[in-house]
Amino acid sequence: MQQYFANTPLVVGNPYFFTKEQAHHASDVVRLHQETVRLVYEGKAYFGVTCTIDGEFAAMVEKEDPQVHECACEMTLCMALIRREKFELVLQKASEIGFARVVPFVSSRCVVKEKHDKKERVAARWQSILLEGAQQCKRNLVPSLSETIPFDHLDQVHAQLKAAAYENAYGTSERLSHLYHGQKSAAIVIGPEGGFSPDEVQWLMDHGYQAVTLGSRILRAETAAIYAGSVLSEAAGDQNEVFSM
Ligand code: SAH
Repeated sequence: MQQYFANTPLVVGNPYFFTKEQAHHASDVVRLHQETVRLVYEGKAYFGVTCTIDGEFAAMVEKEDPQVHECACEMTLCMALIRREKFELVLQKASEIGFARVVPFVSSRCVVKEKHDKKERVAARWQSILLEGAQQCKRNLVPSLSETIPFDHLDQVHAQLKAAAYENAYGTSERLSHLYHGQKSAAIVIGPEGGFSPDEVQWLMDHGYQAVTLGSRILRAETAAIYAGSVLSEAAGDQNEVFSM
């Protein structure tokens, strides 16, 4: 079933008129004619059936979908800027895995620098990757994207569990799965291709982060982000499961 995030409130019994891009996607790309779709507005989901009203593509809103496809833990991914294709892969997967927020940052070993002249275009592209990921896997929320911050602003990220993935922590630090025990929010920091400098690791630990190992194998930054997100979301479970227990 196809899902769309509505940009106007949804009312049972009323039609939702698709945006131009949504109408193009629904009628020309996936060719939905009188088919059930999932529509989401401000976190609340509904089922609707596509139709055409006065030549405009719409969906008649039929009933609420009580299922909430969100992680029980509000997860933040603090992700160092890495090469463009890899960073975009991380955004797509972070959205699918269930992160609530992505905070890009620049640290000393980042080879990729933020291009200030292209800042807005890049942010719009990243937001659309997050939206498409969320739509594709039927989330109730689109992960938010913060501005790219310098490394030493990571102390402004707030969460009940704050972890920094450090490849040299194997044998001396906890595994992420051991640190998670029901916290309602968690932030995980993943370094760039070249990793963190020892000073940066110390800084993170001085600012409330716990160094965590993701195992004895050194993962690529993008793998580390996907791995850490999977571990956390598996440990936390979904809102549907947790709240119905
Ligand atoms: N400095 C390393 C590679 C860094 S890997 C080297 O070239 O040898 C990129 C990022 O992924 C790291 O900064 C860390 O956040 C994360 N990472 C990769 N493997 C990890 C592991 N086994 N445990 C914890 N973090 C890991």
